[in-house]
Amino acid sequence: MTLSILSFAQVCARGQARGKRVFIRADLNVPLDAQGQISEDTRVRASVPALRMALDAGAAVMVTSHLGRPVEGRQQPGDSLAPVARRLSELLGQPVRLVSDWVDGGFELAPGEVALLENCRLNPGEKKNDPELSRKMAALCDIFVHDAFGTAHRAEATTYGIAQYAPIACAGPLLAAEVEAIHRALAQPQRPLLAIVAGSKVSTKLTILQSLASRVDGLIVGGGIANTFLLAAGLPIGKSLAEPDLVEQARQVMQDMKARGAEVPIPVDVVVAKEFRADAPATVKPASEVADDDLILDIGPRTAQALAERLKAAGTIVWNGPLGVFEFDAFSHGTEVVARAIADSDGFSLAGGGDTLAAIAKYHIAQRIGYISTGGGAFLEVLEGKTLPALEILHKRALEAQAA
Ligand code: ADP
Ligand code: MG
Repeated sequence: MTLSILSFAQVCARGQARGKRVFIRADLNVPLDAQGQISEDTRVRASVPALRMALDAGAAVMVTSHLGRPVEGRQQPGDSLAPVARRLSELLGQPVRLVSDWVDGGFELAPGEVALLENCRLNPGEKKNDPELSRKMAALCDIFVHDAFGTAHRAEATTYGIAQYAPIACAGPLLAAEVEAIHRALAQPQRPLLAIVAGSKVSTKLTILQSLASRVDGLIVGGGIANTFLLAAGLPIGKSLAEPDLVEQARQVMQDMKARGAEVPIPVDVVVAKEFRADAPATVKPASEVADDDLILDIGPRTAQALAERLKAAGTIVWNGPLGVFEFDAFSHGTEVVARAIADSDGFSLAGGGDTLAAIAKYHIAQRIGYISTGGGAFLEVLEGKTLPALEILHKRALEAQAA
């Protein structure tokens, strides 16, 4: 890690966790199906090493997370972490008790036990990082462990405020590993370094495009983002998803790359449909021949093949965002060809983003990606070189502890 931060592993190695109350902020925000069952449990599994570390160190363990976007102060069906408690209990091989209304304490917890504290976003003041709420939560523990990389770019009561007031505040193994992996890949990358920034909108990824444009050897755009770049290149895009008000910024990104002798490859062919539907007939066209009533829903096969060639020869690949509407099979080929090329490349690959992870799972290539981040927004912010708020406060606390 570039910032000096206390790690939970160090705290445990010093024996400081024995018999102590450890409060872990994890990211257990998993998708639930219509029956309320967990449909994808990667995040629950990713939270286990920190919990094990705390249990092995002899601590009494509290863990919390947000789930979905509940209204603060008003629990609705579907807001409960109950399914997560069951899954965690299976993974740990011991009971995991779910505790509601936990902010003021009053629940018993012995060393060796694990309590899952109900959805932290139900607590009024969580999102606003309320100091009073943060102080109460800090009073529940001796050691606060931040292990939720996916929310490390937000300053909320369980991601920031509690770290200000807890007696000891440190980074959990997942948070530390995430940040280290991204820095390791980008500090001295094997060249050529290629970045793929695709997905739905330029607006959500403009700063990452701008920041990568000054560092990468090739910047590959795809999805709705490519549509805005096609516009910037003066090509027709019909009714496709795009952001015409960001064409100027897209053009600037292309110019910045060109000035460095690098480029943003623009698709030469595309897959279009007349309607946004899974069963809409798909037509491959040269990018210059898109009709007024066409929707571009994928990159074409020639474009995908050309990108695949470049990716196979890359030294380092950073990937965020599907290259088309990969949820619809007829428009998934571009994403699939690129995903397989990344998997086949000898270069180190780094991928992150909610839908990107879904694409990786769809094509069963997870084993062949160098590092898969659990974060979406946080992954992009670290790539941009920003200091995440969660790391900033942990760094501050580490400096205070050194001075004391
Ligand atoms: P991530 O979650 O990996 O960061 P995004 O959320 O930015 O990715 O984008 C993924 C979404 O973009 C997918 O739902 C996909 O269907 C959509 N998408 C990709 N290409 C297009 C396109 N050409 N037109 C409309 N939507 C698209
Ligand atoms: Mg997404």
